[in-house]
Amino acid sequence: MGEESDNTGTGRTISKHFDQRRIGPLARESYNRSALLPRSSLAIRVLGTYGGSAPGYRMTTFLIDGETALDAGALTETLPLGAQRRVRRVVLTHAHFDHFASLPFLVANLVGRESAPLEVAAPESVLTALRKHVFNDVTWPDFTRLPSPAKPTLRFRPTPVGRPFRAGAVAITPVPVEHVIPSYGYVVSKPGRAVVFSGDTCPTERIWAVARRVRDLKAIFLEVSFSDAQADLARDSCHMTPSLVFEELAKMPPRVPVYLYHMKPPSLARIRREIAALREPRLKLLESERSFRF
Ligand SMILES: [Zn+2]
Ligand SMILES: [Zn+2]
Repeated sequence: MGEESDNTGTGRTISKHFDQRRIGPLARESYNRSALLPRSSLAIRVLGTYGGSAPGYRMTTFLIDGETALDAGALTETLPLGAQRRVRRVVLTHAHFDHFASLPFLVANLVGRESAPLEVAAPESVLTALRKHVFNDVTWPDFTRLPSPAKPTLRFRPTPVGRPFRAGAVAITPVPVEHVIPSYGYVVSKPGRAVVFSGDTCPTERIWAVARRVRDLKAIFLEVSFSDAQADLARDSCHMTPSLVFEELAKMPPRVPVYLYHMKPPSLARIRREIAALREPRLKLLESERSFRF
């Protein structure tokens, strides 16, 4: 289930998968797939909520059920070694540095682990960037062949776009979003509960079309990187500001809380003021580590 690659390396292939007519069946399939999984709560620990690094500001990292990381900005500085060894897979939204910064160090800490290799799961275009630019035996060793090709520490798992793949007890569906490089949001679901992560994106459509059809949606995690005073920078780098977030709300399913993350640390104070001024109770700024159980 979900092991096959669809070679989604180009925008053209992605848009083929996301022909508007297919959004309904895709979303239903996502839900139905989660119905096959055992019923239990969905535990999400927020280990890092920022889009940049400074003391006290950890980069984007969510830990799902203690074993699946969604992005890896800060895994090794937040998890003790024992908890690092329990991480079975890292699902990446895209190949920007702030989202995989701790991955090379996590992999190095797992050399010799007896269980299966650490899976790095994402659509093929994301994995290609990591192979080429990170685990290339120059920037960092190619741990898909270490300590030996027969017993590697790391395994890349290309995931189909728009269709769910199984990750432990959850089903995860990658949905393309808008960014300066290929970037994916994810629907993470279990029977009776689901959440959506936007990944890095500017104003977008498809993930909201999918989200509107997800039953039992408990929360949306949405990026906001810059303040409205930096609207030009946000547009050029394809990120959100508070005003853009407010406009996105109309596309989302109603009444679902929206947790904002990925603030650039120098922009945080201003973003906080602008979000407060919107007086929109659904919007909550995720400013510190916290745990959710849905
Ligand atoms: Zn980022
Ligand atoms: Zn990015």
